[in-house]
Order: sequence, then structure tokens, then C-alpha cells
Amino acid sequence: MTNPESTAPGIRLRPEIAALPPYRQGRPAPAEGYKLSSNENPFDPLPGVAEAVAATAAQINRYPDATALALREKLAGRFGVTSDEVLIGDGSVALLAQFILAAAAAGDEVLYSWRSFEAYPGLVTVSGATSVQIPNRPDHGHDLDAMADAITDRTRVVIVCSPNNPTGVTVTAAEFEAFMARVPGDLLVLLDEAYIEFVRDAASVDGRTLIGRYPNLVVLRTFSKAYGLAGLRVGYAVGPVAILDAARATAIPLGVTAGGSAAGIASLEPAAERELLARVDVIVERRTRLRDGLIALGWPIPEALGNFVWLPTGAETVAVAERLFDAGVVVRAFPPEGIRVSIGEEASIEILLEILRELVPGSQEGHPK
Ligand SMILES: *Cc1c(COP(=O)(O)O)cnc(C)c1O
Repeated sequence: MTNPESTAPGIRLRPEIAALPPYRQGRPAPAEGYKLSSNENPFDPLPGVAEAVAATAAQINRYPDATALALREKLAGRFGVTSDEVLIGDGSVALLAQFILAAAAAGDEVLYSWRSFEAYPGLVTVSGATSVQIPNRPDHGHDLDAMADAITDRTRVVIVCSPNNPTGVTVTAAEFEAFMARVPGDLLVLLDEAYIEFVRDAASVDGRTLIGRYPNLVVLRTFSKAYGLAGLRVGYAVGPVAILDAARATAIPLGVTAGGSAAGIASLEPAAERELLARVDVIVERRTRLRDGLIALGWPIPEALGNFVWLPTGAETVAVAERLFDAGVVVRAFPPEGIRVSIGEEASIEILLEILRELVPGSQEGHPK
């Protein structure tokens, strides 16, 4: 089916924008099924958090404090910085766009590992800059040496995603520090830690421990995944004031809502956060069970430190995704590389193991792994 708008005569759009695929959301699950395609938190909102959001309804005729000062102050306390060193965005994906726009334009390069977060290429194209994608290592982690080698005098932003979406592998603290030692001090590095709360590995990088150490580093986090607020669009950046000021300047004004800020603040209340982090433990336990189960079946599953597991299905990607869909499980397929399966409801784990038991790569032909 052709989209009549894309064929409208006489409208001169930027050709690189007209050619962009629109952002694809995970497909909805069948009524009795499981939506494991968007790395969402499967738990219902916490009562205290939902009530804090509801309380903001009486003020929806007013513009919000879109700087979200109260939330910034809370986060600043945790990171040991001032509230000006924290920037709230309507999702950390909005912040990614703001930082890229602040640093890169036509003729510039934005460097990142690939495959990684599917929003990166589009955000770079919108800025007018060019993506430089460095293939993941065979273990599906970032090849930071190759990334450092690829820096040129046109590079304006480097994005490091840890744990990497969709492969689940983290960058270690040692790897990250060695990388930063090779990056020029005037080149902006964005450390995207959307899944940091799910990491159970002491060697992995943790942006919080790096704050204040590098004048060119910004750490990005979100309330969408572990904190279960994907629908309210709240993310944050921590970094040097001058870089954050530039990103404030490229924001579409007033994007952060009062409901989003209230939800963020309520989520950081000790009782709410304890419960949220206990739920993260449950998801980590399910992730471990799924990954261990798949490895026992013969699946070559990489390290999985987010709330998802990567299946390197290669040429079989579409076929495996369809088999799972027929069983009521919606996953995110990236043909011809693999499938990202989010960790969701308890009952979905058994179903996944049952279906994937019959689809172990190479087993149909009797090939060794
Ligand atoms: C989900 C995700 C984000 C941001 O999500 P928001 O809902 O916009 O905060 C950022 N980076 C990565 C790698 C993600 O997977």
C-alpha cells in the first residue's frame, strides 16, 4: 500500500528524511499472549506512584515546570552533583536527540556500535550528520578499540550503550576507561545506561562512578525500563553543565510533564523504590533462568545483562519469530541477525523454553554448534 503523503507532488522534503523508515514499535500481543517486544516492565504501576500521577490531574490546565526542578534535586543528591548537572527529558531518547543536535550537524559524524539501539540511526539522520557504525565483536559486545580507531576530526558524538540493546552485553569499567583515555577531551561521549539497574556483574561500567572524572562524558538513564514508567516519558542525563546547557537549547520546549515528574519523584521514595528494585530482582531471576535454559538446550546466547535476551537466529530470524508469534509470544526480530526477547510475565518463560527447544540453531540438520 502506498502512503499518499509520501507521493504528494510539489512538497520538497529533505530527501534523507523522506527516506527514513518511521520508528517501529513492537507489535501488540494477541489477546491471550505476551508482548515481549519493547523491553517494558511487566508489573503494574506501584500504587503510590499511580496516585502521585493522578494527583497532577487537577493542574493539567497549567504548563508544567518542564525543568522538573524537584526531580532534578532528588537525582542530584544521589549522584553527588548540583541540580544544574542533571537534565530531565521526555524519555532518554529525547535527550539523545538533544545532545546529538547540540554537537553534530551536516558534515559531522556520530559514532556508535552496531547493532545497537534502533533509534540511533534516525536521530543522527535528523541532525544532518552521518552515522559511523562499528560492528559488534563476535561476542556481541562493543568493539571499543575499533571505535576509538574510527574517530576522525569530523566525529562530534560517540554513543556507548551498556548494556547494549538488543544484544545484552555490557562494556566493562576497564574497557570504558581505556577507551576514554583514547578519546579527545573535546569529543562528546554519551554513555547510554537505559538498563543499568538490571546489571549483575561487578566488572561492568557504572556511569555513576565516573561522574566528574571526564569533562566530555554525559550519562543517560531512564525511568522507562526498571522503574516501569515507559508510558510517562521520563529520562535524565548527568554531566557537565555546559554540555547540558547546549542540550537544553536544542530541546522542544516544555516536553516534560507534571505527571512524569511526579511519577519519577514518587518512584524514588524509599518504600516505592525498594519494591521496584525487588521487582527488578524477579526479572533478573527470570532472565537467568531463560538464558541458562536456552544454553542447556544448545543455544549460543550471549551474556544478557538487560531485561532481555538475544537469540542469534541469523537467516532463521523471521521463521523463529513467526513460530513464537503463533505461540502467542511477540518478540522483536532484527533480520538477518537475531531476535530480542524481553523478560516479561512468569508464564512466558516456560513457553519460550518449550518452543525454542525445537528450534536450536543447526540442530535440524544435525550440525554441531
Ligand atoms: C529504551 C531505551 C532508551 C530510552 O527510552 P525512553 O523511554 O525514551 O527513556 C534509551 N536507550 C536505549 C538503549 C533504550 O533501549
